Amino acid sequence: MKNPVYSLRLSLVDDGSHDLFLDEKFIGFVGKKSKRAALLHCPMCRKENYHMAVLDGYCAWCSWRIDKEAVASLVAMEGSDG
Ligand SMILES: [Zn+2]
Repeated sequence: MKNPVYSLRLSLVDDGSHDLFLDEKFIGFVGKKSKRAALLHCPMCRKENYHMAVLDGYCAWCSWRIDKEAVASLVAMEGSDG
């Protein structure tokens, strides 16, 4: 099994945040200032996350977690343009 690949795309919402994808599937977003990864849609159990767990980046249903180090290095590569 290959490692999942995280990617970022500039959010359509004009607040400087990024949408977060795992293997091309939308899973959440990364805050512009906080740089924290939020999990909206779990890639494992495919449920919409319970909102108290969204900003902590883990799935309330199956406990799957975003790899924060992987996301942090992605954010660093995006550079700081604002
Ligand atoms: Zn889950």
